[in-house]
Amino acid sequence: MGSESSGADQSDGSSRRVGRRAVLLGGGAAVIGAAVLARDELARAWWRLPGMEKKRVEGELDHRAAEWTSAARANWRRADRPDDYRIDRVVIHVVQGSYATALKVFKNPGHGAATHYVVRKDGHVAQMIRELDVAFHAGNRDMNERSIGIEHEGFVHRPQDFTAAMYAGSARLTADICARHGIPVDREHIIGHVEVEGTDHTDPGPHWDWDRYMKLVREASRTRV
Ligand SMILES: [Zn+2]
Repeated sequence: MGSESSGADQSDGSSRRVGRRAVLLGGGAAVIGAAVLARDELARAWWRLPGMEKKRVEGELDHRAAEWTSAARANWRRADRPDDYRIDRVVIHVVQGSYATALKVFKNPGHGAATHYVVRKDGHVAQMIRELDVAFHAGNRDMNERSIGIEHEGFVHRPQDFTAAMYAGSARLTADICARHGIPVDREHIIGHVEVEGTDHTDPGPHWDWDRYMKLVREASRTRV
């Protein structure tokens, strides 16, 4: 997020394009074989064939400290990462609203966007989308496919919203993501939404303390068990 309007991140048109493709793929292997898709996408779609998909359990968590509460199905795309897309970025967002607002809009199928995780001011973490799936959060298709998105409760212009507990809970989450996916803990791989190519979003904004955050992520990486 990052505009002055309230409510969580809006996606760009990429999610609608993806939506139409997902519908085509939903038609099954015959449709996949119809050469509707680019070769690159065909190469990534093998796992959609019957019997190839990873098993899923409703409510299963990737970050063990999180609480599961699902985003609307329209706000993410089914995938099989890291087998189809490598995950090598974590994207940091600020909601421009409360934790409750973020959960509410991500559960709204009309919103068109959602992140994998939402962090509350007390450090509590909600997981809304599985990491193997592609969340529509960065407004950039390539970045969505390669990243995991984390929203933070609060407003970009209110530094007091970024509490010590929120930094700490988010840092433990990012350290866990980086460890499980082999992502280097640095600012090239842990970025703000504002740093995504082509974005018009400004979050997490000038009051997000990157030095403090990265120090916490590095510490959490060392002490992670
Ligand atoms: Zn954002």
